[in-house]
Amino acid sequence: MTDRSQTARSHPSRKPCLTAVLRMAGLRPTRQRVALAELLFGGAHRHVSAEQLHGEASQSHVNVSLATIYNTLHQFHEAGLLREVAVDAARSYFDTDTSDHHHFYVEDEQRMIDIPAASVEFMKLPEAPKGMEVSHVDVVIRVRKTPG
Ligand SMILES: [Zn+2]
Repeated sequence: MTDRSQTARSHPSRKPCLTAVLRMAGLRPTRQRVALAELLFGGAHRHVSAEQLHGEASQSHVNVSLATIYNTLHQFHEAGLLREVAVDAARSYFDTDTSDHHHFYVEDEQRMIDIPAASVEFMKLPEAPKGMEVSHVDVVIRVRKTPG
């Protein structure tokens, strides 16, 4: 057991909880991981890019490189704490809501809006290749402001 009184110093109510979440996900609760988990899971569900999280970390005086942010986001994703939503080859968002749902992507604002899973229906899906099964279907509907 580690010394909880020390890790719980700045946010006594939340930090031990996030520490437990990280442990349960099989991740060692390092200071950086706990700090980033706080930024990600401290409020309502949301979608963040690595660059956004990097900006938030700097503002909160959490000193981590963008490379560390990428690594941590991918570790959280692998551990099932985050869902990755790829908008294109260059841009991915990490969703703190890992439940089944889809997204609008607002192109002019580079922002994602949730779509409940039940509001998208598929008339026909191809069979999964032999020996495979569909794990999930991600729908990203790109939208932009109507002119005027
Ligand atoms: Zn979402």
